[in-house]
Amino acid sequence: MRVSPISPTVDFSAEGVQHGFLRLPYSRDDSAWGSVMIPVTTVKNGEGPTALLTGGNHGDEYEGPIALFDLARTLKPEDVTGRVIIVPAMNYPAFLAGTRTSPIDRGNMNRSFPGAPDGTVTQKIADYFQRTLLPLADIVLDFHSGGKTLDFLPFCAAHILPDKKQEAKAFELVSAFGAPWSMKMLEIDAVGMYDTAAEEMGKVFVTTELGGGGTATARSAGIAKTGVANVLKAAGILKGAVEGAQTTWLDMPDGNCFSFAEDGGLIEPLFDLGDAVRNGDAVARIHPVGRTGAEPLDIKAKMDGILVARHFPGLVKSGDCVSVLATIVTE
Ligand SMILES: [Zn+2]
Repeated sequence: MRVSPISPTVDFSAEGVQHGFLRLPYSRDDSAWGSVMIPVTTVKNGEGPTALLTGGNHGDEYEGPIALFDLARTLKPEDVTGRVIIVPAMNYPAFLAGTRTSPIDRGNMNRSFPGAPDGTVTQKIADYFQRTLLPLADIVLDFHSGGKTLDFLPFCAAHILPDKKQEAKAFELVSAFGAPWSMKMLEIDAVGMYDTAAEEMGKVFVTTELGGGGTATARSAGIAKTGVANVLKAAGILKGAVEGAQTTWLDMPDGNCFSFAEDGGLIEPLFDLGDAVRNGDAVARIHPVGRTGAEPLDIKAKMDGILVARHFPGLVKSGDCVSVLATIVTE
């Protein structure tokens, strides 16, 4: 396969702190020989594990970029054993545009793996992570939130995996992250995800959903900052004790946790995030808006659980994810 067109301006094998860019040539109308300049920081101190930390995989999710621009600015080599590679805004064009996908090619970074060195801009970034950055990593933390169209209870998450040792290590880091909620996460469609790429390489991969609605809050940004430090401490990369926060484990047992709209309209939430919902309860109601006098459509829960995610904007379209339920794990 051809080499990646991306050249880093930092040396990942060098000791100390380096702030630089992943420079991706992108020739266009306003810059004939221009580049996309993706900010990157590497902090290395001697032998030890490597953590790869990413935010902005989707451009309208802000807790990760807040925590990671902050960490990149403040992390000192003497604090670190091993190496920390920080990319606060992975899909940088999407991040600058404030959109989930890239304004250049509409590429959804988290559906673009393994990417392609001769593909679109988003595919080229994915390929660089696939073939250059992921192989350097022992642990990977990728921040997400709901973006403009979903809102989540704040949780850190990992997936159920065929390799139970790898799964146990990931769940340990999820516990260490210390979000109010911790999730055994099920994906609607795992093909092309960064998560899947990292897990198939045997990496210990954890992710988050820390809020949404296209903004961070003081609470969600704080959870992100404490969480990333806790993960680095649990991995032995940062000194100090994990700041013990109580977390409640949740499970998404099967596809019944998701509900989708079958009509568009005005959505009336009937439960809020964190509320307990019973199988058969109407989670939300969609009011038709074309005329007065038409009956609303109830979206029914297909299991008992608590509401962990909901559609965010006030208007909903057919096919939109309206709600996600999860069950509390009691052991
Ligand atoms: Zn996301």
